[in-house]
Amino acid sequence: MRRDRNAKIVATLGPASSTEEEISALFEAGVDVFRMNFSHGDHEGHRERYNILRGLEKKYDHAVAILLDLQGPKLRVGNFENDSVELVAGQKYHLVAEDCLGTSEMASLPHPEVFEALEPETNLLLDDGRLHLKVLEHGPDWAETEVIIGGKLSNHKGLNVPDVVLNVSPLTEKDLSDLRFGLELGVDFVALSFVQRPEDIAEAKRWIAGRAPVISKLEKPQALTRLDEIIDLTDGVMVARGDLGVEVPPEDVPGLQKLIIRKCREAGKPVIVATQMLDSMINAPTPTRAEASDVATAIYDGADAVMLSAETAVGDYTVESVSMMERIIRKVEHDPHYRDMRDAERRAPEATAADAITAAARQVADTISAAAVVTFSTTGSTTLRAARERPAVPILGLTPRIDTARRSALTWGVHSVLTEDCHTFGEMVSKAIHAAKTEGVAESGDSLVITAGVPFGTPGATNILRIAWVE
Ligand code: PGA
Ligand code: MN
Repeated sequence: MRRDRNAKIVATLGPASSTEEEISALFEAGVDVFRMNFSHGDHEGHRERYNILRGLEKKYDHAVAILLDLQGPKLRVGNFENDSVELVAGQKYHLVAEDCLGTSEMASLPHPEVFEALEPETNLLLDDGRLHLKVLEHGPDWAETEVIIGGKLSNHKGLNVPDVVLNVSPLTEKDLSDLRFGLELGVDFVALSFVQRPEDIAEAKRWIAGRAPVISKLEKPQALTRLDEIIDLTDGVMVARGDLGVEVPPEDVPGLQKLIIRKCREAGKPVIVATQMLDSMINAPTPTRAEASDVATAIYDGADAVMLSAETAVGDYTVESVSMMERIIRKVEHDPHYRDMRDAERRAPEATAADAITAAARQVADTISAAAVVTFSTTGSTTLRAARERPAVPILGLTPRIDTARRSALTWGVHSVLTEDCHTFGEMVSKAIHAAKTEGVAESGDSLVITAGVPFGTPGATNILRIAWVE
């Protein structure tokens, strides 16, 4: 089963996508990476979905990646005496760190680290930015604020504090327990929410200890001030436009999306564009024109993947959302203008043997109109570099490791196939041809451009390029 497109689809699982039948339908419709959102659901539910996914992977003989998305240090107000209050612009409103029931005069905000970081004039945004408070004065466990934009505030609503760096660990107690659970299951990616600084990624990596690559969710303005260091440390990035669009003005989001994608493309790290892509399809069988355009823009920008959240987790049209995304991607990828943009934005190779070979492979494939670039890669790092080249032909990623094959499901243009290690050139060529034929990438008379490392089986040593003809 090979998907006939380059950009990948990430879909979030939830109550609307929990049974084998529902998940299988999403998989068939085109999902490459499944996201388990640990802001919702319990471990048992996640375990069941995990097992269903691994079953489908076997059944379809097609590697599937599973992304564990940690909730992170999400800030929330406490509960209210009557479940909600109505705040009016101009009124004063009091916040306290103490865990108690809120009233029309004050609310509980059980996060001492927020009070620590406050300054007069700090903006506090509640309920996805619907309400806006400004700090007047504060102490170590209280704050007096003025309501700038009022409205209804109910139990447990989220708080965003865009102006200050909070002294919080990127991993809460809940995150650590979720992380242990997920790593034991064997998830393929761990996504970190509300990354503020590169140190957050370093801390997560110490806990993860190489068991899964880290995807940093960019949704805090503080992270954007240290973008280069963050991209340098992380294994992949998610443009998390939901919270990002609360923390920065909405008109800043499109430009930031383009900037982040460009930097990730330069670094050769996978980048996902996420949130509200086909939002209206939660309740309707077709998207708005603006949403179709949004998905297309992410593809034109060169993203590795586009993501569905509530559309597949709780929506009424889960399969339709995936099919719609798939159709938009294909349409863009067949547009000659897209190809011109892709070629114009190609990155120069770095001064390494692997990059030299990879860049040459793309060039040779173009010159002789090869059917595919075939990479032999144990860790998948060479395959990632091949994707960074954005070749015009499919990348067939051959690897002896299932975890490598799964991770490649997120990478632009890569179709992975499991093979055993090879020991000779003859074996390498015949394995490449066999895989290309069975996966429908090449037929008799076609050529393949193969890259590998010699001596065979030494990770990270790509140093040869070979052209092979399919008989
Ligand atoms: P979330 O992250 O759905 O976990 O909040 C994505 C976003 O903020 O866009
Ligand atoms: Mn978020």
